[in-house]
Amino acid sequence: MQTSLPWIARTSRFSCSQVSISRRPTLLVSFAARTTRTATNVNVGAALRKRYITVLGTFLAPGFSSTSSTSTSTSTSTSNCHPSRSRHTRPYLGYHSKSPFRRYSTLSTIRHSEYTTAKMTRDDRDVLPEEVKPVHYDLSIFNIDNKAFTYSGTVTVDIKITKETSTISINVKELDNLKASVTVGGASHEAASIDVDSKRERATLTFSSPLQVTELAKLKLDFTGVLNNKMAGFYRSEYKVPGTTEATHMFSTQFESCDARQAFPCFDEPNLKATFDFSITVPNSWTALSNMPAISETPEPSGDLKVVRFETSPKMSTYLYAWACGEFEYVETTTERKYNGVQIPVRVYTTTGLKEQGQFALENAAKIVDYFSEVFDIDYPLPKVDMLAVHEFSHGAMENWGLITYRTTAVLYEEGKSDPRYKNRVAYVVAHELAHQWFGNLVTMDWWNELWLNEGFATWVGWLAIDNFYPDWDVWGQFVAESMQTGFQLDSLRSSHPIEVPVRDALEVDQIFDHISYLKGSSVIRMLSSALGQQTFLKGVSNYLKKHTYANATTDALWSALSEASGQDVNKIMDLWIKTTGFPVLDVKETADTLTIRQKRFLSTGDVGPEDDETVWWVPLGLTSESLTTASQEAVTALNEKETSISGLNTDYYKLNIGQNGFYRVNYPVERFAKLGTSLDKLSVADRIGLVADAQALALSGDGSTSSLLSLLQGMKEESNFLVWQTIATALSAVQGAFGSNAEIKAGLKKFALELYSPAAEKLGWTFAEGDDFLTTQLRGLLIGAAASAGHESIIAEAKRQFSAYFSGDESAINAALKLRVFRIAIAEGGKDEYDQVWAEYLKATSPDGKEITLQSLGKVKDADLINDYLEKMIGDKIPTQNTHYVSSSLALNSDAKPLVWKFVKERWDDIFKLLSGNMVLLDRFVRVTLNKFSDETILEEMKAFFEPKDQRGYDRAVRVAIDSVSGNVSWKKRDEKVVEEWLKEKGYLA
Ligand SMILES: [Zn+2]
Repeated sequence: MQTSLPWIARTSRFSCSQVSISRRPTLLVSFAARTTRTATNVNVGAALRKRYITVLGTFLAPGFSSTSSTSTSTSTSTSNCHPSRSRHTRPYLGYHSKSPFRRYSTLSTIRHSEYTTAKMTRDDRDVLPEEVKPVHYDLSIFNIDNKAFTYSGTVTVDIKITKETSTISINVKELDNLKASVTVGGASHEAASIDVDSKRERATLTFSSPLQVTELAKLKLDFTGVLNNKMAGFYRSEYKVPGTTEATHMFSTQFESCDARQAFPCFDEPNLKATFDFSITVPNSWTALSNMPAISETPEPSGDLKVVRFETSPKMSTYLYAWACGEFEYVETTTERKYNGVQIPVRVYTTTGLKEQGQFALENAAKIVDYFSEVFDIDYPLPKVDMLAVHEFSHGAMENWGLITYRTTAVLYEEGKSDPRYKNRVAYVVAHELAHQWFGNLVTMDWWNELWLNEGFATWVGWLAIDNFYPDWDVWGQFVAESMQTGFQLDSLRSSHPIEVPVRDALEVDQIFDHISYLKGSSVIRMLSSALGQQTFLKGVSNYLKKHTYANATTDALWSALSEASGQDVNKIMDLWIKTTGFPVLDVKETADTLTIRQKRFLSTGDVGPEDDETVWWVPLGLTSESLTTASQEAVTALNEKETSISGLNTDYYKLNIGQNGFYRVNYPVERFAKLGTSLDKLSVADRIGLVADAQALALSGDGSTSSLLSLLQGMKEESNFLVWQTIATALSAVQGAFGSNAEIKAGLKKFALELYSPAAEKLGWTFAEGDDFLTTQLRGLLIGAAASAGHESIIAEAKRQFSAYFSGDESAINAALKLRVFRIAIAEGGKDEYDQVWAEYLKATSPDGKEITLQSLGKVKDADLINDYLEKMIGDKIPTQNTHYVSSSLALNSDAKPLVWKFVKERWDDIFKLLSGNMVLLDRFVRVTLNKFSDETILEEMKAFFEPKDQRGYDRAVRVAIDSVSGNVSWKKRDEKVVEEWLKEKGYLA
C-alpha cells in the first residue's frame, strides 16, 4: 500500500496527504444462523479464549491507555495516513500495560530500552486453527443492488483437513445470512451451528459429526454483504461525471489489511495462500474487473445483466484479491518487453470522462513493469496490469495483484492543469505499487509484524525505478530531504517505536502503516543497499524472491539471501536497526590528525538519559575519501562500538555520512561545522541537505546551537538547488515557529528571511522558460512563496495581479505550478474577498488536485474572524473528514492562527471528537498535525491538563507525539531565545 506521501512534508512537520473517510464501527452483526442458537463460541479452544478475554478485558477497561508509566511502547504512531477500521487501540504484545488507567502524564518516564520485540510464535498471534487450510476459492458475487447497497455471494472453498475436527473457523466481518455446509467424499453436511464472534471477526461452524482428515473437502458458504461507504471490503464511492450534477457510484474493494473478510468469508491471513476463481453479475453497461483477465461474459436471461467470469488466479493471499465494477473507460498500452512471447496489456481505468488523465500513469506503468522484470530477474507474473482510479480511497494506493487501485490524485494527472508536484507523486506511487507485484504479492510476508519490510522495500525500490526514468528529478536528494527527515522527526521522539513491532491480530495491523514502517524502513534499506553495493543487494533480493515464489517468507530469509550474496553477516548489521527504537547522533571530536567519534541516541527533546542510550548501532561512517590517508583506510568503514578513534586523517577537509546514506545525524565541533558551511561547493546536494537538516535538528535538541544554524543558512544565499532550498526553508520556518511568538524576534527573522530569499527569487523570476526542468519549476514556486511571506513587495504585487486576473475569468493568468503559491500569497495579504473567492474555488474544484490546493491555501488567512470562520468550516459539512487535516495543519503553521487553533480545539473538542472519532485514525492524525507546532509553555501545560482526564483510547499516541514535539519546541525556545536575539542584533536584523 502507499500511505506516505513525502512531498507534503515540505510544508508541515507531520503531515500526510492521505485521506480517510470515516469508517464507523459495526460491532453488532446479525446472522440468521446465530439467532437460532443459544450458545456462542462453544468450540473455541478454552485456553485461547481465556487468553483473548484477558486481552480484551484490558482493552475495554475505561480510561485505558496503551502504555504504562514504566513501559515503552509506542507502537501506533499514527501521523500516518493509514486508514482504517474504526476501533480503539490495544497495546502491542511486549508491553502490557501495568496500569490500565495510566494516561500520558508520565511521558517522560517512557524508555525505549524497555520495549521488547522478542520473536513472535504462532501462539502470540490470534490466528485461525491449524487443522483446516484453504487451497482454492470459487467465489460468485451477485444481486448487486446499487440503490439499497447490498449484494449476495456464494463461496466454495476447497480445503485440506489435517486433523479430525467437528468445527471450522473462518474469518467474517459484517456479513449476514450465513449458511454453511461441507462436502467430503460425496456426502454433504450442513453446519449445525454458526457462531459469530464479531470482535475476533470470525465464524465458527460446528458440524454434528467430526470431519475426517482429507486432502479435499468443499466448504460452501452463502452470505449477503453491504456495499458500504467506509472504504473497506467491497464498498461504494460517490462521484459525478464531469459536466453533470447528479451523483452516482462506482464499486471496488480494499482488503489490506484484514478486510477481505468483510467482502466474503475467507481464511484471511497472509500465509494462507490459495488460488481463486471469481465471477460477478453486473448490469450490461458496466465493466467488471478483477486480478485476472475476464474469460467470459454471459448474458442473464433477464436481459439486463451479465455474468463476468475471470481466469483462475495464481496462489495468493486474500488481502491482495480485488474486484471492481461500474461505468468505466480506459486508456491502454502494452509493455515493450515480451513475456512468454507476448507484450502484456497495461490499462488505466477511470469513471466516464477522465481516462485521458490516466495517460501519464499508463506510460510510466508500462516502462516500470519491464524495468522491475529486469531488476528482479523474474518476469512480471500475471497476464495483464490494470490500474483503477477510485473516487473514495483511504490510502494512496493498493497493490492488488494485477488490479492496482488508486485515489484519484495518485494516478490522474492533467498536463498544464495539475500542479507538477503531482507528476512526481503519480510516477512514484505507480512504481511503489508495481514493486509490490513481486515484493509482497509474489513473495509475501509470513505475518503482519513484517509489514515494514514489504513497505520499506517498496518505498526504496519505487524511488530506485523513478531515479532510473527521471534522473533529472534527483529523487535521492528528494528522499534525503523528505522521506528521511520525516522518518527522523518521528523517530526523534520518545513516543516512537521500533521498525518491527509485534502484531497480534487484525486490530493491531492498521496502526503500523506509519512513517516508521515506510520511511525509517526504507531509509535503513537504503543504508544497507549502499553498504553492500546496490548490485549485490539487488542480486540478494532476486535470489530471495526466486526461492520463495508464490509462498511466504520472513525478514530473516531476506537477510540470509543478502548475506549469501554479499558475504557479510546482514542479520548482525540490521538487527538493532529493526528491533530498537531511535537512531544515533555521532558526536565528533578532533585532535590533530585524529577523530574521536561517539554514538549516542538522538532525542529532539535533548534529554537523553543513560537508560535511553543503551543501543550500540552498526553505523556506516561514510568518510569522504579525500580525507582518508592510507593509514586510516582499514578501520573506518563502520562504527560497531560506542566510541572509536580514527588516526592518520587529513583533517583539512572531511565529512561523515557522505551521500547521507546512513540513518543518523552528525554533530561536528563548532569550527568544523562553520568550515563545512564555507565549503558548500565541495558537497553534493544530499550532503548539503544533510548538513542543514542535521544543524536544525541539533539546534532543536540543544546538541548544537541556533546561532550556528542561522549562520549556516545565511551563507547559503547562492544555493541553486530546489531540494536544498526546501531544506533551508524548512529549517528557517522551524526557527520562526519556535521563536516567532516574540514580536521583536519575529520581525528580525522576517527581515533575515527577506534578505536570504530575495536574490534567488528575483534571479529566477516568474517566467517559465521552455527548458525549465522539474526542479527549477519547483524552486520558482518555493522562492516566490518564501520571499512573499518575508514581505517582498513586488512579488506580492505580482501575485495579487495574477490572482485578480484569474478570478476575473482569465484562468491562464496563473501557471498551474504556481497556483498554490499565488493563492496562498493572495489569502495572506488579502481579506474577506480573497478568502471568499478561494472558498468558492474549493467548492467547484474538479481537477484531481484542486481541492487539496485550495484547502491548503485558505490556511494562510490572517484576520481573526476569517480564521475562526475557517475553523468552523473545517468541522462543517462542506469539508469531508478525509480532508480535515489539510485545514488544521495549514492553520497550525500560520503564526496568526496558532493561538486561535488551540482555543478552538479546547472549546470545540466535543464537536471535533464527534466528527472524527468514527474512524480513530482521523482523530489521531488531526491531533498529530494540528497540535505539534506550539512552542509556548503555557499551551504545553494547558495541553497536558486538557488531555489528562480524557479517555484517549485510539489517539493516545498522537497526544504523546504532539506533547513530545511541543516539549522540544518549548525547551528550544527557553534555551535559545537570547541566542537568537543576539544573533539577529549582531547581524543587523534587529534595531
Ligand atoms: Zn506499499
